[in-house]
Amino acid sequence: MKRNPNAFLKDEYNELVKNNFDWKLRILETGSQPHSVVDGKEVLMLCSNNYLNLSNHPKLIKVAVEAAKKFGAGSGSVRAIAGTMKLHMEVEKRLAKFKGTEASLIYQTGFAANSGLIPQLADKGDIIVSDELNHGSIIDGVRLTKADRAVYKHRDLGDLEKVLKEADKKYRRILIITDGVFSMDGDIAPMDKIVDIANEFGAMTYVDDAHGEGVIGPDGRGIGAHFGIEGKIDVEMGTFSKAYGVVGGLIAGSRDLVNFAFNKSRTWLLSGSHPPAVAGAQLAAIDVLENEPQHVKNLWDNTKYFKKELNSMGFDTGKSETPITPVIVGESSKAKELSNRLYDEGIFALPIVFPMVARDKARIRTMMNAGLKKKDLDFALEKFESLGKKLHII
Ligand SMILES: *Cc1c(COP(=O)(O)O)cnc(C)c1O
Repeated sequence: MKRNPNAFLKDEYNELVKNNFDWKLRILETGSQPHSVVDGKEVLMLCSNNYLNLSNHPKLIKVAVEAAKKFGAGSGSVRAIAGTMKLHMEVEKRLAKFKGTEASLIYQTGFAANSGLIPQLADKGDIIVSDELNHGSIIDGVRLTKADRAVYKHRDLGDLEKVLKEADKKYRRILIITDGVFSMDGDIAPMDKIVDIANEFGAMTYVDDAHGEGVIGPDGRGIGAHFGIEGKIDVEMGTFSKAYGVVGGLIAGSRDLVNFAFNKSRTWLLSGSHPPAVAGAQLAAIDVLENEPQHVKNLWDNTKYFKKELNSMGFDTGKSETPITPVIVGESSKAKELSNRLYDEGIFALPIVFPMVARDKARIRTMMNAGLKKKDLDFALEKFESLGKKLHII
């Protein structure tokens, strides 16, 4: 019989639906705002990565519009050929200064940075050493190399040292990669100590600070500034798509790193550069972070208040040290039910369930936002408390 080349599309999709593993897309009818309209209902937004609410900041919007008017809707090319505009260069210069590094480089997305750069940093004869809870885009980047791989227990320095001791004699280069802020639990990698250990073994350090950029460190300068080790992490990678409120991947480090990275990363060389509006908004985001400290302050004030109140109600928020605050409820079905009921009450926060987290650690993952007011938080807390009691979580 002749094969049907498309049959698997429907079969595999139906299998996902049957197991309730398919993504049901929620549609925003407003911008991503503290009060958004999602699927026709006004809700408090508690699950966007727009931590500082910068996507709605008048300055970002104004500069984006002006850049589009002046330079057009698209950039016309990949960066390496004819798609590098003065605006792109300006963003990289400003970003390096902001982050206290020699140089920086912008990729189309954070995913493109990880999947384009990591494979160039290690090859046959080298080893990549990863925290066991690293983000999927790091894992994909690692998969593209011919290097050997090793994993150490989550944030476990003893285990990291053990892995490095074993690797020390056998390999040409060692690359240690970790998330900065871990996206499921909101805990922070002990980057200062990881850098010390790396120095002992002559290993290179690479941190994915997607959830730390704009959030941790003075003025949201990221994980290097958070630990006071600016310029000491070999590769600081991050994104403009979260707290910065725009889109785009970034790396910050030495001039040598940037020269190497843009000449070698295939995702950078073979894919179109950001439209002027995007580059303009990135520039404005850095400007706002440098000149308006209130956004980062509001984010942390809100985070501390929300977390303290949840804990005093008896909720388990795990190991979170950041605005990512998981509300751990146990079984997957309970997390899904809580999320649905919260939505009915006007709160948008999604469940994270097995296999993304352990079977008994299903949770609602809340992300705090600088634009939420105290009355918004009190409204959310009241709903969490009453539903938590109804569902026997607290
Ligand atoms: C979101 C995220 C990315 C991807 O960043 P984009 O710029 O959205 O592609 C990479 N790493 C981590 C840890 C993330 O959370």
